[in-house]
Order: sequence, then C-alpha cells, then structure tokens
Amino acid sequence: MKGKYLLRCPGCGRPFPDRYTLDCPSGCDALLRTVYAERRLTPRNLPGIFRYKDWLPIEGHLPLDAGPVSYESAGLARELGLSNLTITFSGYWPERGGRMETCSFKELEAQPTVLRLREKGAGVLQVSSAGNTGRAFCQVSGLTGAPVVVVVPASAAARLWTTVPAANVCLITVDGDYSDSIAFGKEVCTLPGIVPEGGAKNVARRDGMGTVMLDGTLATGRLPDYYFQAVGSGTGGIAAWEAAERLVADGRFGSRLPALHLSQNLPFVPMVRAWEAGRDAIVPAEDMPDAEASIARVYADVLTNRHPPWGIRGGVRDALAASGGRMYAVSNEDARSTGRLFADTEGIDLDPAAAVAVASLVRAAEERFISPEERVLLNVTGGGYERAAEDLDRYPVEPFIRVAAGAAFEGEVRDAVQGWLAEQEVAARA
Ligand SMILES: *Cc1c(COP(=O)(O)O)cnc(C)c1O
Ligand SMILES: [Zn+2]
Repeated sequence: MKGKYLLRCPGCGRPFPDRYTLDCPSGCDALLRTVYAERRLTPRNLPGIFRYKDWLPIEGHLPLDAGPVSYESAGLARELGLSNLTITFSGYWPERGGRMETCSFKELEAQPTVLRLREKGAGVLQVSSAGNTGRAFCQVSGLTGAPVVVVVPASAAARLWTTVPAANVCLITVDGDYSDSIAFGKEVCTLPGIVPEGGAKNVARRDGMGTVMLDGTLATGRLPDYYFQAVGSGTGGIAAWEAAERLVADGRFGSRLPALHLSQNLPFVPMVRAWEAGRDAIVPAEDMPDAEASIARVYADVLTNRHPPWGIRGGVRDALAASGGRMYAVSNEDARSTGRLFADTEGIDLDPAAAVAVASLVRAAEERFISPEERVLLNVTGGGYERAAEDLDRYPVEPFIRVAAGAAFEGEVRDAVQGWLAEQEVAARA
C-alpha cells in the first residue's frame, strides 16, 4: 500500500483510493471499510482522538482535546459484582479528562468527518439530525471554522447549542419530523458544493466512533470479552466490531472478538425484534409496529432510527453474528432508575441513551449472561450535561431558514442557501 490507507468494498473486494467516497463504485450494497497500512496501533502524542490517528482516515489532525476517556469502575462494578468493568466515557467530565462539551460521543464522529472532508476538498458538509449529531457538528464547526449545513425538525432546534460561537453553521429547520428533515437534507445536497455526511456509510464516522474500543482496550492492555452500548442506528456497534478486528490483527491484545451487547429502548426496538426473529431485513409491521406512537414514548429518543444499517453487508447484523452478540430491550423505568444508580455510584449524570446501555449491563449481571471476572467495556456514549450547564457558556444556534415539510428546494430558499455558500467560499479564500 502506497498511502496511509485505502478503502475496500466487502461486497466485491475491490480496493480504491478515498475521495470522500461513501459507496462502492461498482454499486455493491455494502459498507466500505478502511484498510490501514499500519497493522500495529501506535498511540501518538496528540490531543483527543488524534492519539489514534494511525487508524483514522485523515492525514493531519485538529487541535481539539475531546476524546473518549477510559477508567476502571469501582462503584458500579461493586454494585454489580463485576471485577473487570472498564467504563469509556464520552461527554463532559473535567475531573476525568472528559472534554466533549456537547456531551455525546457524536463528537468522535464529527471531528474526523470534518477533517477528512477538508483534506479531500470535497465541499461543504450537510447533516440531518434530531439532536446529538447536529450539536456535535455545530460545535466542531465553531471550533474549526468549517462550514456545515444542518437540517433538523423545528421541534428539535432548541437542542442545537454550542459552547463556542458557531458562525459558519447554516441551520435549516423543517416543520415536520426527522424523516422530513432527512428528505429536505437530500434536496439541499443537489446544490453543487454541498455533500452529505453519509451516516453509517461514512468511514470517518465509524473509525471515529471506533476509538472507544481502541481507548478501552489500550487502557487495560486486553480486548474486552463484552462491549455494551445502546444503539439507534447501530453505527457505534459496527465501529466497535471493526476496531476490534484491527486490534485482533495487531496481535498484542488477544485473539477473540468482544461479544457486542447492544440495547434499545422500549417500546421502539426494531433491531431487537429483527435479531430475535433471525431476520436479515427489518420488517416495519413486525419490528416497529406503530412506529410513530412508539417513538413518542421512549425516554432515549436518539435511539429511534427507523432505517438502521441492519442487513447490509458489514452492518449491525453481521457485527452481532460475527461477535456472538446479544440484544436487549430496556424499559424507560429501568433506564431512569439506572441513570440514578450510575450518578450515585460513579458521580456523573448520563444521557438517557447511555442509561439504557447501563441498564442492559445491570440485567446481564443479574441474569448471569456474563460472569463476575470477565472483562466488560461499557461505552457510556453521553453524559455530563449538568456539569456542562454549570461550567460552560451556551450559544443557541439560530435558524437561517425555516421550511414546511415536503417543501421543494427551489426559489428563494435555494437562493438563500446558495448565497450562504458563496459567502463561505469568499471567506475561505480571504
Ligand atoms: C447516537 C447516540 C447513540 C446511538 O449510537 P449509534 O451507534 O449510532 O446507534 C447512543 N448514545 C448517544 C448518547 C447517542 O448520541
Ligand atoms: Zn463493491
């Protein structure tokens, strides 16, 4: 291999260079993967996730100190009777070195994505998100000056804030639900110069999230036996599997893939149902009946993705099957009470989604799916909101335009976005 990395399609096996490529050029229905020249992971003396730069699809780094932090649990571990529980925390927790000021592991994805796009000169990024992803991209935009177009349901706009001014965000609010925002976001990407973030197809997103597995493993020197995470799209689970495969190939951390123990929040649990039924496609009528009503009732609404990359080659189902994994359906009540238990035993407030993951671990320990001495990596995907609200400035991201659900991307709206884009280009040249 000449460069630092290539992309490879697990469908046809073809390798090719990265041009911010999201899909196989031959049209395979598969998630592309990065293949790195370095087989052994050498942590760099760089801040945050750039410590793991060898296994990120970027050449340089950003001066940002927001990476996952891993430590051995004492309080929760004792409570659950586990002797090898590693917590990898993504959020704001200054005493532990947690510096993700928008409080979720979506910052792990936003940083390498923004940098990869800049290095490839691919254009301006467009992201559709109902919450944590949008906030993470606004934050990284604020910190780096990288322009980004964010499309959200109007009802979710209040979740978009940053802790530094973010002057290069074009926020479009849609009077509709998340699916309407995704549809409008696609339209916006028809404007030359705007490119979609790509979701699970984006290798920078997955390898950024995979740094949780790298950090947790390097902290203990061994791959864990189990990896616990709450999932909505499952991208973090796929990322953990890919990172673990690299660590196995490295050779120094063990030879067995950690079993992925992934959880969703009742009553919206499409992947749990598809897994239990052995289905390679999510069947809406079976796996997410009354989707709208169910989505409205969950505690952790970042876990309510209707189109997860489930059956696609290299997707969540493959990751579960390859690792001998398991799925959990967690009630709101269990998630809430476990969030309190975590705050009492570990000393930080959790994102509702992280509370779902911890609740699944409580069940696994109680029901003896895992034994006390086995090594567990718990991905705490978000937390520290209360601390962040006390310590940090908060800048609401102001909407640039508001559109109706199903609106066409034309006329004044298109002109306005084009005008914004032209200003960004002028500013970038200055
Ligand atoms: C997005 C998110 C998840 C789920 O992540 P996926 O791996 O993409 O399904 C879990 N927890 C938090 C806090 C999140 O923001
Ligand atoms: Zn292919």
